Amino acid sequence: MSRPFNFSAGPATLPEDVLAQAAREMLDWRGSGMGVMEMSHRGKEFLSIAHQAEADLRDILSIPAHFKVLFMQGGAIGENAILPMNLSRGARADYVVTGSWSQKSAKEARRYCDVHVAATNEADGHTSLPAYGGWQLSERPAYVHVCSNETIHGVEMHELPDLRALGCDAPLVIDCSSHIASRPIDWTRVGVAYGGAQKNIGPSGLTLVIVREDLLGHALPITPSGFNYQTVADNESMYNTPPTYAWYIAGLVFQWIKRQREVTPAGELTGLAAIEARNIAKAELLYGYLDQSGFYRTKVQADCRSRMNVPFFLPDDALNEAFLSGAKEAGLLQLKGHKSVGGMRASIYNAMPLAGVEALVGYLKDFALRHG
Ligand code: PMP
Repeated sequence: MSRPFNFSAGPATLPEDVLAQAAREMLDWRGSGMGVMEMSHRGKEFLSIAHQAEADLRDILSIPAHFKVLFMQGGAIGENAILPMNLSRGARADYVVTGSWSQKSAKEARRYCDVHVAATNEADGHTSLPAYGGWQLSERPAYVHVCSNETIHGVEMHELPDLRALGCDAPLVIDCSSHIASRPIDWTRVGVAYGGAQKNIGPSGLTLVIVREDLLGHALPITPSGFNYQTVADNESMYNTPPTYAWYIAGLVFQWIKRQREVTPAGELTGLAAIEARNIAKAELLYGYLDQSGFYRTKVQADCRSRMNVPFFLPDDALNEAFLSGAKEAGLLQLKGHKSVGGMRASIYNAMPLAGVEALVGYLKDFALRHG
């Protein structure tokens, strides 16, 4: 029996192959006599899972050798505090506010350092991206923080800012929770990339922090040892017991990404390139229909629309309940928008197949015909 399509913003749908493999391996991981949840994180079985997952992630995202990959806990909300503790040296840090998540990051960071908001799209309700050239960066910020995909408002940076070109030597920090592994990352522009796993990578409980080595070793004295990037790196993310099962599932997802193939007019693509091409096709299909529907509305400017999170609105909120219950009957789950924005939101992460977006567009058309 095929499962419904699940458009949750996170925790989100996972590749069915991954869930099936995890189910097969649940009681006995590869003849070890143990399930992965029951293994010591220091045993050779789990270490092989952990090392393979890191190697696969490095491969998929082309992470350079001078970056450490940390498998942590606390979520991206935790990182809102952990990051300034590790990087700010108590000095000034710049934040660009483009939606709810970067706003939360800036607010939390104020507890640990002097926060300067270098740019914001607040005036238009978080529906645009402030032009990089207009950012009011500080003289010497410890870092510049952005949320490269705003999950709630649906604003995505399709190209990361090049701070050096803006005359700033500070490291760029990206909260890439909701689009990590959906597209390549230009590491020449990044000092730290972090994100919760529960969208494109695996279960909640795992937080990835990918940090340039030269940024380690400057944590404030108040930093909890388990959240000191240097300590975590020195102990290969095993200073405390890591979220082993989430790490294992992430590893299965990385292998799934590596197996992907997509035939395009430009030839066959594999791995992350295949994933990215599929994500572009899915987003074009959905936005393309919404734009010409004459019924649904979107608010985000076309040049920064998220490929992952697509907020949209019906002509009348009174139709929302009927839309959602009809969607559920049609096998399309969790389309309700975030309460702060309203309307609907379709999250179409890596694991959402094109067929899921086609089914959604079919339902959208049908609903518009009946209620237009
Ligand atoms: N940042 C972004 C961009 C997010 O999408 C989320 C979660 N939706 C968070 C931060 C917060 O993550 P967590 O709940 O895992 O702490």
